[in-house]
Amino acid sequence: MLKGKTALVTGSTSGIGLGIAKALAAQGANIVMNGFGDVSGAQAEAAALGVAVAYHGADMSRPEEIAAMMAYAVEQFGQVDILVNNAGIQHVARIENFPAERWDAIIAINMSSAFHATRLALPAMQAAGWGRIINVASVHGLVASAEKSAYVAAKHGVVGLTKVTALENATTGVTCNAICPGWVLTPLVQKQVDAKAAVLGVSNDEARNLLLGEKEPSMQFTTPEELGALAVFFCSPAGNNVRGVAWNMDGGWAAQ
Ligand code: NAD
Repeated sequence: MLKGKTALVTGSTSGIGLGIAKALAAQGANIVMNGFGDVSGAQAEAAALGVAVAYHGADMSRPEEIAAMMAYAVEQFGQVDILVNNAGIQHVARIENFPAERWDAIIAINMSSAFHATRLALPAMQAAGWGRIINVASVHGLVASAEKSAYVAAKHGVVGLTKVTALENATTGVTCNAICPGWVLTPLVQKQVDAKAAVLGVSNDEARNLLLGEKEPSMQFTTPEELGALAVFFCSPAGNNVRGVAWNMDGGWAAQ
């Protein structure tokens, strides 16, 4: 379905970004990957799906590196048809203890990077008459949790940016939507499981169940594969007039 298209997925060396990159690759899209850590492993997983895969190591907290990544993607594949703004980090602390430097980093990586990549991707999408911008927000773009001030502020901001991007392009073939996962068992969440296990002196399994039990009525983690399938839907013809939604896949979290 996406043969001939190019998808750039930020933060795609791990977790949800990798899941979305693989789901888009399985539909035939060429992939530009980004992120840190096991770059070659992630690239190999996407390339195994038979598409062309490129990688740029832009630090998403740095606007000039985001610009270099967008230029690189165009150089490699001609243009970016699908932009998935996914890179993100977390820090958990009460506001009075929240390090100002962590606030700045979360706002830059989880929110401002989506603005920079979007503003750079839009002109070519508008000229082509087709484009898809998918922002990986969070259920924390819709509701709050204590001790996540920067994350909740950034994710609410991403949902707002999603709506404005959708509105400004509403008469075109360019759509913008947000995905709002509940708990997904990626390294970002495993750190929170480890912290809970350490504080409460319980096992990893018990800590996972406690985490789910606090927020997620389904008592199940959403998977990167399920989120990838939602991204594919947004890119499908059935998604042509889906604009500005913040679609939660959260096991009922925000329904409470
Ligand atoms: P993860 O830690 O597995 O992956 C994060 C990715 O972002 C990695 O590829 C990492 O290298 C990259 N990254 C981090 N800082 C970066 C930077 N400065 N520049 C470039 N890349 C950077 O985490 P994940 O759970 O897959 O998270 C992906 C997105 O999904 C994030 O935006 C996160 O907020 C969101 N999300 C996660 C969950 C969850 O439960 N895991 C729930 C809702 C939303």
